[in-house]
Amino acid sequence: MKDIRRFCKRRQDKENVMKKGDMPALMMLPMLVCLICMCLSGCGKTAGTKEGLVVYTSIYPVYDFTVKLAGEYATVENLVPAGVEPHDFEMGTQDMIKLSEADLLVYSGAGMENWVDKSLETLGGDAPRAVEASEGISLLTEEDQSDPHVWLNPANAIVMLENIKNALCELDSVHADVFETNYEKYKAELVRLDESYKDALTQVSKRDIVVSHASFGYLCAAYGLEQRPVEGLMADSEPDPAAMSEIIAFMRDKNIQFIFDEELVDNKVVDTIAKETDAAVEILDPIEGISEERMNAGEDYFSIMEKNLSVLKRALE
Ligand SMILES: [Zn+2]
Repeated sequence: MKDIRRFCKRRQDKENVMKKGDMPALMMLPMLVCLICMCLSGCGKTAGTKEGLVVYTSIYPVYDFTVKLAGEYATVENLVPAGVEPHDFEMGTQDMIKLSEADLLVYSGAGMENWVDKSLETLGGDAPRAVEASEGISLLTEEDQSDPHVWLNPANAIVMLENIKNALCELDSVHADVFETNYEKYKAELVRLDESYKDALTQVSKRDIVVSHASFGYLCAAYGLEQRPVEGLMADSEPDPAAMSEIIAFMRDKNIQFIFDEELVDNKVVDTIAKETDAAVEILDPIEGISEERMNAGEDYFSIMEKNLSVLKRALE
């Protein structure tokens, strides 16, 4: 609840600023002046004054992959603040300035970050190089919309890792061997992760999972599961009462005793359905963003994927 309240407030604050400025173009003006000043003073990209590459990432999975690949040879910062649900993220003026100073923007793509194209276009010649990590992955679509949650299949994560690695190698060829070594290391870990999913999920008796929003399409496709989402692809639409009773009937029919929620969205419908069906609510993390506390506690893509697997095993046995 707290998270979504904070998020709603953040959005409201942004909308208020928009109203005061009347037009988005006016908001851009101070920023453009800043950019011009920076160019004139010769600062430009900070890469020259800092050790290593300056890289911005869009969402947690690509942040984690980039940090793992670049090691000490890049300063990596995630644009979507820790603990914020990323589907509704919008770039602020500060974010645009940061981006203008970067060497590289790594984003997941496949429709996850609607703000990328517009931001790069606005920055024009000051835009950093951008890499779409999901490029080359065959996408699932639902109602003419591509499913952006590619990273939840470890095989897709390998493609993402490779795309990011290639961009790093091109920008900093001196350390290309380091990036290649890190790539091979984490690729091997992803292969192991994929194997442990395959091993565990071929032995379970159930196949259906009821999830908060439709983020597990790639995971389900990879391991022969079926997701029944309470919300759509974008975690923004709540089902009508008819759809809710359908899910309740489905869970009773299939004897499903678990319903999966996530941390960044407070989905009250999930709680209602759980009460109605006597199902236990468990967290199945779509890894769209994690809190600073969890990051400091050493959690990462791999540890969360392992945790997700043990939750799935318990729910499906
Ligand atoms: Zn999502």
